[in-house]
Amino acid sequence: MKKFLTLESYLAEHEFLREAAEFHFKLEKNLSDVQPLDFPPREKVLELVRAEKIPLLQQENFQPQILDATEKFLPRELAEKLLRQENSSVKKFCADLELNEVLTRKIFWAAVDKLIPAELKLWERDDRQENYCPICGRRPVIAHLKKLNEGRARYLLCGGCRTLWNWRRVGCPYCGNENLEQIHILELDNKMRLDVCDECNCYLKTYGAEDEENIYLRDWTTLHLDLLAEEKNFRKCGAVELE
Ligand SMILES: [Zn+2]
Ligand SMILES: [Zn+2]
Repeated sequence: MKKFLTLESYLAEHEFLREAAEFHFKLEKNLSDVQPLDFPPREKVLELVRAEKIPLLQQENFQPQILDATEKFLPRELAEKLLRQENSSVKKFCADLELNEVLTRKIFWAAVDKLIPAELKLWERDDRQENYCPICGRRPVIAHLKKLNEGRARYLLCGGCRTLWNWRRVGCPYCGNENLEQIHILELDNKMRLDVCDECNCYLKTYGAEDEENIYLRDWTTLHLDLLAEEKNFRKCGAVELE
C-alpha cells in the first residue's frame, strides 16, 4: 500500500517551516470556536451566484452576517473593507490603528474560511467558470490537478475562504493568457510545480498528486517554493497577505 505523508511527518522533513506551522496552528486554535454560518442551501447559492454574476460574499445581503461574526476579532469597519477588498483603505486603517496588516489579513480570512459551510466549498465545472472565487471573490493561490476519468481536471483554491472551483485546464487565472507557449512549467518538487505566465509574470503553485491535500493545499506549507519563485523575480498572487 502506498504511504501518504501526514502533516507532522512532512514538517519533520521540512524543519524550516516549523515557525510558519506554529503560527498557523496557533491561529487555528484561536479560531476553534468559530462555527459555520447559516447560508441558504447549496442549490440556492449556486443560483444566486450564477444569476447575479457576483460572488456570494460580495452581495450585500450576505455581508452583515460575516461582519457580525468577525466583530469579536476585528473592528467591523476594518472587516468590511477587508471583505470588499478595498485595499488602500485597509492599509490606511491598519496604519492608523497601528495594526500589523499581514496579521490582520490572515486572521480575517482564516475566520471567513471557518464561517463558510463545507458544502459550499466545492464548485464543479457546470457550476461556474470564472477566475475568481465564487464565494468571496478573491483570486486563487494554488491549483490542484485532479484525476478525472481518463484525464485530469484543474481546480483553483481560494487563498481566503478556501473554496475550490473547477476551471479550464490551460491558461493563467490572473491575466487570462491562454497561449500555451507563453506559460512555462517549473518542476521544483515532485508533488508541486509552478505554472509561470510569461504575460503577467505571475506563478501558480500547482499540486499534481492526490491524497495529501491536507498538506499541499495550504499556502504556507510550500513557502520555500515561493522563495525560489521570488529569486527568479516571478510574482505571487492571490495570497491572503497580499492585496
Ligand atoms: Zn474565497
Ligand atoms: Zn498571466
